Amino acid sequence: MTQPIYLVGARGCGKTTVGVALAQALGCNFVDTDHYLLESTKMSVADIVAKEGWEGFRRRESGALQSVTAPGTVIATGGGMILAESNRQFMREHGVVIYLRAPAQILASRLEAFPEEGQRPTLTGRPITDEIVEVLAAREALYNQAAHHVVDATRPPAEIVEAVLTALRTARA
Ligand code: ADP
Ligand code: MG
Repeated sequence: MTQPIYLVGARGCGKTTVGVALAQALGCNFVDTDHYLLESTKMSVADIVAKEGWEGFRRRESGALQSVTAPGTVIATGGGMILAESNRQFMREHGVVIYLRAPAQILASRLEAFPEEGQRPTLTGRPITDEIVEVLAAREALYNQAAHHVVDATRPPAEIVEAVLTALRTARA
């Protein structure tokens, strides 16, 4: 597998967890666009948003997507990467896009169990479950539009990796 693999989906769907395991299974590199941004700017997502607004963050995020795109790489994207049509098109043209799909309740329970305090400001300032339901409803169609394959991300990570590998094999057959 030399084409980059892009993992898309909401916060908590397992892009980082599954991405690391998938890269290991494929003998690929793993990169996370949020981590790339953090390292290349020396600012957290919260810092960038505070200084440059969400618009500035989205612009930098698109730049990060293009910078990390390379053969033999599994790329975990930020939850809002799919908002820009140009990002969706870029990913579809440059690699295979996998949507890790999970319902809002599961995303909420994962994020509540492991809150990464200060990692990212909430989008609405309201309770996390309400926000996840709303954000997912607004973005679900875009995740589906971006994706070549939709994978059920409610199962254990190892099973998700298997499902992605199967999808990739099907794609090449
Ligand atoms: P993302 O990168 O999409 O935001 P993460 O990989 O950071 O998601 O996962 C968010 C949280 O959910 C972590 O605490 C992780 O351990 C847990 N998690 C991820 N995938 C699964 C899974 N398939 N089943 C159960 N818990 C999971
Ligand atoms: Mg992540």
